Amino acid sequence: MDKTFDLLLQGVNLFDGATGMDVGIRDGKIAAVEGNIPPQAAAEAFDFRGKLLIPGFVDSHTHLDKALTIQDEEADGLVDAVNLFRNYQNRIPKGKIAEDVKRRAARVLDMEIAHGTTCIKTHLLCDEVWGMESVYALDELRREYAGRITLQLIVPWCEANAEELDRACRKGIIDYFAGYAHLCDDFRTELDGIFARGEKYGIPLDLHVNESDVGNIDEFLYIQQKTMDLHMDGRVNCSHVTAMCAVDDETAQKGIALAERARTNIITLPSCNMYLMGRHDRQPVRRGVTRVREFLQAGVNVAYASDNIRDPFRPFGNGDMLEEGLFTAQVLQYGTASKLAEVLRMGTFRAARNAHLSDYGLTVGCTADLAVLDAETPREALVTRAQRLLVLKNGKAVSRSGVLVP
Ligand SMILES: [Zn+2]
Repeated sequence: MDKTFDLLLQGVNLFDGATGMDVGIRDGKIAAVEGNIPPQAAAEAFDFRGKLLIPGFVDSHTHLDKALTIQDEEADGLVDAVNLFRNYQNRIPKGKIAEDVKRRAARVLDMEIAHGTTCIKTHLLCDEVWGMESVYALDELRREYAGRITLQLIVPWCEANAEELDRACRKGIIDYFAGYAHLCDDFRTELDGIFARGEKYGIPLDLHVNESDVGNIDEFLYIQQKTMDLHMDGRVNCSHVTAMCAVDDETAQKGIALAERARTNIITLPSCNMYLMGRHDRQPVRRGVTRVREFLQAGVNVAYASDNIRDPFRPFGNGDMLEEGLFTAQVLQYGTASKLAEVLRMGTFRAARNAHLSDYGLTVGCTADLAVLDAETPREALVTRAQRLLVLKNGKAVSRSGVLVP
């Protein structure tokens, strides 16, 4: 008999509550989602009766070039972590930087793939110490891992590397411009420069914003206004915004309303924030996590992500978006079935929006970047940190039961 599908996932449960669905995959795309497809219609069929099928996780904010550099010294807050990592950078000999970055980043990619992640957005260093070594290393790794995971590179502008950066932008190596304006003396001038470059090269922005315990979100407000003034609506992502937890409700509401109008995507990083923020408070200690609940209520898109994996910024993490999701749920005090489903959406559908992924999802025509979890519902998946039974990238198996497919 003619095989209509390359692969068939039988009897899966879907996000929307549908159960017992058969998902047929052809040429790397979802070709059918129906109630009753015979196994003979596919070259290969898997019986996943009652198991939850999700689109692959999107880890939309991580730092692969910093990962796995855990040291004995504990950082006393964000600035201290920046300095500790600078010490690490200085210890790597010039000719060994790319090799060091690639080796550590590849390990994290393998961890993420085994845990069902099919797309990663990574922030990278571009500075006077390492130049553009991280950028080139990750661009190479992106080619080596093509077909296993999608990699998007987020790079800050550094005047010392201006010519090379210009070339990299024109070659399409850089997917987003990064920004760390809260660490600069004058955030407005810094942001003006970042927005101008975003406009010039047509590259969207992915910014670290107000990552601070100080009750001031002027930077966040400035970004929303600037986004609208330049008609960059929907092309700006703001990560952290932890200062939101230190401002009064009125100021916060002003920022949230502007973000909704500017169609800004928010990325919350609770596991890293809970570790680094509030360190200099005495009781009561601020929790250092942005106002996720209120952003969502206002219709602002929010995703969660891993941020740092075993480095001076956070000595924890397993490249597991389900683990990050469970932690996020606890920090947000989200416990009901519907709220836990929302958390899972924040690591999948909502994250895919800030990664500008088209054809992402569980409907016919979507790319078959999928994960089957050993759980019946989103709640069970999060609470048990369910085994990832099968991970597909473009319809091809890349991991089975936590073991990478060679
Ligand atoms: Zn970060």
